[in-house]
Amino acid sequence: MTDSTVKNASMIAEDTLIETKCTACGHIDNVPNWIIGELAEEDRISSKHGEVEIECPVCKGPMRRVR
Ligand SMILES: [Zn+2]
Repeated sequence: MTDSTVKNASMIAEDTLIETKCTACGHIDNVPNWIIGELAEEDRISSKHGEVEIECPVCKGPMRRVR
């Protein structure tokens, strides 16, 4: 009976932060990977070479994942 509860807890725990850096101003932000996954599905036009671009909160420039 507790199976579903354990499953939910482990799903929430998968909240890996992805470090992104603005290519325009150099602002660094940590974004949960599920946001990147959502953006990749919704906004395929702006994803180039498999990379998702996030809008920089400082200058509205493109932010990309830091390796
Ligand atoms: Zn910026």
